[in-house]
Amino acid sequence: MRRLRNVKIVATLGPSSSDYESIKALFVAGADVFRLNMSHGSHDEHRERHAIIRRIEAEFERPIAILADLQGPKLRVGTFADGPVDLEVGDAFRFDLDPTPGDAKRACLPHPEIFAALESGSELLVNDGKIRLTVDECGKDFANCTVTVGGAISDRKGVNVPDVVLPLAALSEKDRKDLEFACEMGVDWLALSFVQRAEDVLDARNLAKGRAAVLSKIEKPSAVRSFDEILAVSDGIMVARGDLGVELPVQAVPPIQKQLIRKCRAAAKPVIVATQMLESMIESPMPTRAEVSDVAAAIYEGTDAVMLSAESAAGQFPVEAVETMDKVAISVESDPTYREVIEASRYAKRETVADGIVAAAREIAETTDISAICAYTQSGKTVVLTARERPRVPIIALSQLESTLRRITLTWGVHAVRCGELTRFKECVVNAARAARDYGFADETQQIVVTAGVPFNTQGTTNILRVAPCDERLIYSTDPE
Ligand code: PGA
Ligand code: MN
Repeated sequence: MRRLRNVKIVATLGPSSSDYESIKALFVAGADVFRLNMSHGSHDEHRERHAIIRRIEAEFERPIAILADLQGPKLRVGTFADGPVDLEVGDAFRFDLDPTPGDAKRACLPHPEIFAALESGSELLVNDGKIRLTVDECGKDFANCTVTVGGAISDRKGVNVPDVVLPLAALSEKDRKDLEFACEMGVDWLALSFVQRAEDVLDARNLAKGRAAVLSKIEKPSAVRSFDEILAVSDGIMVARGDLGVELPVQAVPPIQKQLIRKCRAAAKPVIVATQMLESMIESPMPTRAEVSDVAAAIYEGTDAVMLSAESAAGQFPVEAVETMDKVAISVESDPTYREVIEASRYAKRETVADGIVAAAREIAETTDISAICAYTQSGKTVVLTARERPRVPIIALSQLESTLRRITLTWGVHAVRCGELTRFKECVVNAARAARDYGFADETQQIVVTAGVPFNTQGTTNILRVAPCDERLIYSTDPE
C-alpha cells in the first residue's frame, strides 16, 4: 500500500475515532500520523488507541507515527458562585488568588505566576480570546482590569496572556506524568504546547531521553520571537494556529505560517500546519471553498503535513475529512505551478557529504528516468535531507530501525520500509529494488537511485550513490558482493 501524494496527513483521535474499525478507516483513507491529545481522555483510552494503531501498522506492514500532544501550561479562571457572569465593555473586573467562587465584580485566577508577570496595560484574554480585559493596576495577588471586549465568563474558562513571557514551566505536573506515560507506551513524537523558549524544549528532551522525538507547538508570541532558538533544539514544529490566532491578531497568523514553513524546510525538520483546516466538516460532509483553499495554500507553501483536530476526533465526518485532504493534496501536487514554487524555494547551502549526495540523487532523478530514490538511514537524517530537496520522485526510506521509520513518516514524500541489517553491497541494492517493486513504485524495466553508507548500519556514513536497475537478475550479474 502506498500514498499517491507527498504531503502527510495527521489525524487527531477522539470519541469519533476510537475503535479499530474507525481508526483503520482513517488510515485507509490517508492518515499517516495519529495524534493522541493528552488534554482529553484517560490514559486507558490512549493506551487502547495506541494498541489499535500498532495492530493496523502490523496488518498493513507500514510504519505509522503516533504523536502524543501534551496539554502544557493552560491557564484557567476559577469558578463562579451563581453561574456565568456577563461582562460588558467598560466594566471593572478584578482577578485575585482568593479561591472563593467569583461574582460580577471578581473571580479567582489561581496562578500567582501571572500576577508576578503582569504590568498595567497588559491584556488578559478569556475563553479563546472572546473576552478581553486590560490591566489597570496589579500587585502580587490581584489585577484590577477594565473589560474591552465583553461576553459571558464562566467556570474554568481558559485564559491567555499574550504579551508577557510567563515564568511558567512548560511542563506541568500533569504534562510530566503524561510524557512518561506516552514514552513508556512507545509513542514516536511528543508535541509541547505553549512553548515559550528553547529551554522549555530542552526540559522535555531531558525527560524523553531519546524515547520520542520532540515537536514544538508555536502558539505564543514569545515562541515566534524565539523561533530560531526553539527550532534549533526541536525535531519538528507545529504551526498551532488555534491559540496563535488568540494570542496574536488573526491576520498575523498567515505570514507567520509562511515564515515558519520556510525555516523548517531550511533546517530539514518536519512542520505541521494545524487547526481549523476543515472546521466546517465537523458537521458537514462537504468543506467550504475557503477551507479547501487553506489546505491547498499550506501545501503550496511546502508544509510537510496538514492536520485534522476536532474534524477527525469529534466530528461527524472524520473519514470524509481525511479523504478531502488527500484529494486536495493530489490536486495541488499535480499542478506544474506547485513544482515551480517548491523548486524555486529550494535550500541551496551544502556543507556535508550527505548534503551533496542527496542533491545528486535528486538531480539524477531529474536528468534520467528514475522511479524512486531509495535512502538507507539509521537516524533518519539522510531521509529528511533528501526530502528537503523535494525530489520529483518518491523517497523510499529503508532502515532496520522501526523507531526511525515511524518518526520519518511525518516527513514530506517519505515512504518508510523496514529491512534487515545490511551485510553486503549486493544485498543493499537488491533490497532497495525489491521495496520499490513491492510497493508499486517501479517495475522490473525501471531504474532507481540508491543512497547508503559504508560501513553499513552505522549512523552518519552516507557515502554511496548507485543508479540501479530494478531487475534483480541484472543486479546479481553486475554488482560486487
Ligand atoms: P491545541 O493546539 O489543539 O492543542 O490547542 C493546536 C492549536 O492551538 O492550534
Ligand atoms: Mn493550542
